[in-house]
Amino acid sequence: MVQRELSSIILNNENESVELKQNAAEKLIALNRKHRLEMPKQVGLMICKKCHVLYDTNNSRTRIKHGQLIISCLKCESVRRIGGGPKSHRRR
Ligand SMILES: [Zn+2]
Repeated sequence: MVQRELSSIILNNENESVELKQNAAEKLIALNRKHRLEMPKQVGLMICKKCHVLYDTNNSRTRIKHGQLIISCLKCESVRRIGGGPKSHRRR
């Protein structure tokens, strides 16, 4: 499966160049869009939804605040908030 191959390039190969991974990320986004596939969750968290850059320590900021994972892209300045927020706001 092509999606799996592209995901494994992004996730596994420590030695591969950043350009290759960036290329794979963009191919994966294009593939998902074309065939209406769901982005694998693990990979989806590593790619900026707005500018499609692959997050690394230089171009993103990851913080945990109020029980949410907050990823800021320093390239396009978009902010993603992942998770339910403070415990007091959750149901039950
Ligand atoms: Zn971005």
